[in-house]
Amino acid sequence: MSDELPYLENDNGEFAVPCQLKIAEDCVQQGEFCEDKEDAREWVEDECWIFSGEGHFCVQCNEQVLRNIANLATKKMI
Ligand SMILES: [Zn+2]
Repeated sequence: MSDELPYLENDNGEFAVPCQLKIAEDCVQQGEFCEDKEDAREWVEDECWIFSGEGHFCVQCNEQVLRNIANLATKKMI
């Protein structure tokens, strides 16, 4: 299924979805470790992480991206 997506695996054989961007100061870095990849993905979806097509990134990083875009737009206007 979605085995091409990046996952973290811990010593217990559990999986977590990493944040793809990690650009926000308060980035959560990774989702919670779950028994299987499906659960790990559901966890981040419940947290409203954004799916980019190649992976997921957290809400904090999404807000950072939006701030960066807003900064660029402001600079262009000057
Ligand atoms: Zn993040």
